[in-house]
Amino acid sequence: MRPPICKICDKNLEEKDDGGLIYFKKRQSDVEWEKRMEEIGGVGHPPYAEWFCKKHFKKANELRHLPIDEALKNLMLEGT
Ligand SMILES: [Zn+2]
Repeated sequence: MRPPICKICDKNLEEKDDGGLIYFKKRQSDVEWEKRMEEIGGVGHPPYAEWFCKKHFKKANELRHLPIDEALKNLMLEGT
């Protein structure tokens, strides 16, 4: 897992309730990543998951049905 830093505003999530990790819809490449990790018994930060601070968590959570790249594009467009 990556250190918990908000993907949108780079806020450091020091406290547990400062925000949270959101898992987005898996793209084909994400499914392949998982398969590869299983095969090699590896662990890593899933490419379809990101941390969000309290301020951005709600909006990001509403977009979790989208692949992460599309969700982020939407979130960035809306600004911080
Ligand atoms: Zn944020």
